[in-house]
Amino acid sequence: KKISLTGIKPTGILHIGNYFGAIKPALELAREYDARYFIADYHSLNTVKDPKEMETNIREVAAGWLAAGLDPEKVIFYRQSSIPEIFELTTFLMAFTAKGLMNRAHAYKAAVQDNTEKENDPDAGINMGLYTYPVLMAADILIFDSDVVPVGKDQVQHVEMAQDIAQAINFNYKKELLKIPEASIQEDVAVVPGLDGRKMSKSYNNTIPMFVPEKQLRKLIMRIVTNSQGVDEPKDPEASQIYLLYKLFATKEEQDALAKRYREGGMGWGEAKEELFRVMNRELTPLRNRFEEIISDTDKLNEILARGTERARPIAAATVARLRKAAGIG
Ligand code: ATP
Repeated sequence: KKISLTGIKPTGILHIGNYFGAIKPALELAREYDARYFIADYHSLNTVKDPKEMETNIREVAAGWLAAGLDPEKVIFYRQSSIPEIFELTTFLMAFTAKGLMNRAHAYKAAVQDNTEKENDPDAGINMGLYTYPVLMAADILIFDSDVVPVGKDQVQHVEMAQDIAQAINFNYKKELLKIPEASIQEDVAVVPGLDGRKMSKSYNNTIPMFVPEKQLRKLIMRIVTNSQGVDEPKDPEASQIYLLYKLFATKEEQDALAKRYREGGMGWGEAKEELFRVMNRELTPLRNRFEEIISDTDKLNEILARGTERARPIAAATVARLRKAAGIG
C-alpha cells in the first residue's frame, strides 16, 4: 500500500465546514492508503504563543478527529512534537534548501505583501518559523517516506518544495535516500456555508461547531439568516443555506422530499430550520458523545498519542540514520 500523510493544524474548535471539507475526506484515505495523520503542533507555535491555548487546541483537535472516526489502531496518529527526528531532519534539509526558494513561498510572500501595504518594514511580525515553514513541512513529509500528500491548492507549492529539496539530497549523494512525494489535490470538496451564507469560517464568526450541546445547536440553527419570503411562498431550496446544510446530513430520499416541500410553498423558514436541526443532531449526537468521552479522559488520550509515537518513531529514526550515514555524520 502507498503511504499518505495528513497534517492537522491544532486550531481549536472544529466546525462542520472542517468536518465535511477536511476531516471526512482525509479519513477516507485510510481505505486506499497506509494513512498517517499527525498534529502539527510546532507549525502552530509560529502563531500561538499562549501555552493554555496551545494545550487546549492540541487536545481538542486530537479528540475531535478521534470522535469523527479516526481509528488509531488502523492508522498511525501522532504528534509532530513527539518525534524529535523530524527536527533533526529539518536541520539536515536546511543545508540543501536554497534561500531563494523560501523567498518564493506563497505564505511568506503574502505576509510581506501585507506588511508592505500597511507599514514600511516588509518583515514586520514575520518570524523565522513562518519563513522556514516549508522546510519543516518537507521534513514532516520526507521522514515517513510519504507517497501522497493530499492538500488544498494553496499547499501544492509546499509539496513541490519538498520534492526539490529531496531531489537535491538524492542528487548530491547519488542515491535514492528520500522518496519523492506527490501532492494530490482535493478539488471537489464543497464549500460549507455558514450561518450568514458566506463560507463557514472561524474568521467570519459564522460557524456551527461540531460538538456543541444539543440546545446550543438548535439556537445556532435558529440564527441562520433567511430572506423575507413568507410561509406560503414557494422557495428555491438550492438558494437557501438551510437546505444546503440539510443536504450534507440527510439521506437522498429526505433531500428530495424536503426539496419538494420548499418548491410547493406552505413551509416557513422556522420549519425548515427544525428539519435541519433534526438531521444534523441525528448525525452529530454520537460524535458529540464520543468527543465528550475522549476529552474527559486525559490518560486515555495521552495513551493513544503515545502509542502513535511508538509506531512512528522507528520509521523516522531509520530515515535520519540513512541520511547521517550517507552524509558522513556517523
Ligand atoms: P480560519 O478562518 O482561521 O482560516 P477556518 O474556519 O476557515 O479557519 P481552517 O482552519 O482554515 O478553517 O481550515 C481547516 C480545513 O477545513 C481546511 O482543509 C479547509 O479547507 C477546511 N474548511 C474550512 N472551512 C470550510 C468550509 N466552510 N467548507 C469546506 N471546507 C472548509
